[in-house]
Amino acid sequence: MTDAPRPVRLRIAPSPTGDPHVGTAYIALFDLGVARRNGGRFILRIEDTDQGRYVENSERNIFDSLRWIGLEWDEGPDVGGPYGPYRQSERLPRYREFAETLVEQGKAYRCWCSPERLKRVREEMQARKEPPKYDRFCYGKSEAERRALGECTERPVVRMLIPDEGVTAFEDLIRGRIEFENKLIDDQVLLKGDGFPTYHLAVVVDDHEMRISHVTRGEEWISSTPKHVLLYEWIGWELPKFAHFPLLRNENRSKVSKRKNPWATLPWFRDNGYLPEALLNFLALLGWSMPDGREVFSFEEFVREVDLERISTSGPIFDLNKLDWLNGHYIRQMPLDELAERIRPFLERAGLAAEDPPLASALPLVHERLKRLAEGPELLGFLYQPVGEYDPKLLVPKGLDAGTTRALLDASIARANEAPSFGHAELEAAFRELATERGVKTGQLFMTLRVACTYGTVSPPLFETMEVLGREGVVTRLEVALARVPSE
Ligand code: GLU
Repeated sequence: MTDAPRPVRLRIAPSPTGDPHVGTAYIALFDLGVARRNGGRFILRIEDTDQGRYVENSERNIFDSLRWIGLEWDEGPDVGGPYGPYRQSERLPRYREFAETLVEQGKAYRCWCSPERLKRVREEMQARKEPPKYDRFCYGKSEAERRALGECTERPVVRMLIPDEGVTAFEDLIRGRIEFENKLIDDQVLLKGDGFPTYHLAVVVDDHEMRISHVTRGEEWISSTPKHVLLYEWIGWELPKFAHFPLLRNENRSKVSKRKNPWATLPWFRDNGYLPEALLNFLALLGWSMPDGREVFSFEEFVREVDLERISTSGPIFDLNKLDWLNGHYIRQMPLDELAERIRPFLERAGLAAEDPPLASALPLVHERLKRLAEGPELLGFLYQPVGEYDPKLLVPKGLDAGTTRALLDASIARANEAPSFGHAELEAAFRELATERGVKTGQLFMTLRVACTYGTVSPPLFETMEVLGREGVVTRLEVALARVPSE
């Protein structure tokens, strides 16, 4: 061992088992932040040794989602790097070799017990109120000796021989010293019968070979870490630093899970119009804060301050309302041209070719109100559909009849056609005058105009909207409305 500081290298190691959990980005954000702050590297490793849980396309989803949010890796399966391959299924011989060495050294042993026997033994232990552990039936026996006793499988697994006494301890950067009594730790399977490693074997071999300096992961892995620590010690490898992140929680303190919270995946945030920079800012505030307490900051500012030791252990609450607030804040700060480009795909996906009126000129109508890009079609859709769906009864304001409404629409068409300019102030003056002339309340006329032009009773400011629609857009809508006013 040397005293030279280790290069700082952190990794995220998702398994391709479906859409990536938002917690993956949470930890990856800190990984990348710490790597950048210390001139280190951020690594993406795909942990795909559990073939039973493999979900088609999830690796691509992981790549796309992490890139979307802006957490780009320096080394990984698709970009390569000096310590590859970065996909565990391509590293199988290394794990087997490591397991073999441990068997030769007497630190691990083969086990031929059938699943039925393991289940029976576990149930018997539970009935005796003992912690369910493997009973070491195979330990010290040759294959022939063991087979003679029956209840065997075709191909053996390799198990760790956990010491019966003593404790295994490690320092956690977030939680301080954590200790486990060895007698409570099960003889963990390292290599499965099919020759694939378990997570525990692969994670240790890979973190070592990939020179990982800080192992970061969720707190659900804490009880696995002593097994890993033993493996490092047995083989004489330098321990990395460990940091177990708090689990993200719902308001009722249950943990945020993809099963119970369908929104908890990265693609959900992308598809619902959250901005990557807002989501990153939000994730940085979970269990961590800027030394000066400010809540809105960029990734670069985060990098200047990030420190794993300042993460708090109490499960941070994932408050979607706060994320909406932050997202709205980022949207309001964004120049209109940029916002137009970000929101356009959402409109196009809803079948709206947002060209006329130009999107950047329409956005001021909703800029203040917009919280998510995905609200675009709902808030702006009427601008791009010359004919809208609405209940024609809404055209007839309270206190007026259909005939009067028709006459008002007729006169409004004339006003729109004759207006010397189509600025919102002039339009407002012209239509106020029309209401006075016809002896109706401005609110009554404006409601008819609003429904006709925006297809709803709630809309952005009416005359600003008419200005954006332009003369032709307004006249078309008023003509459609006139033809639609119900007979009586
Ligand atoms: N493959 C594990 C997971 O998806 C990684 C755990 C770790 O980072 O060690 O949670």
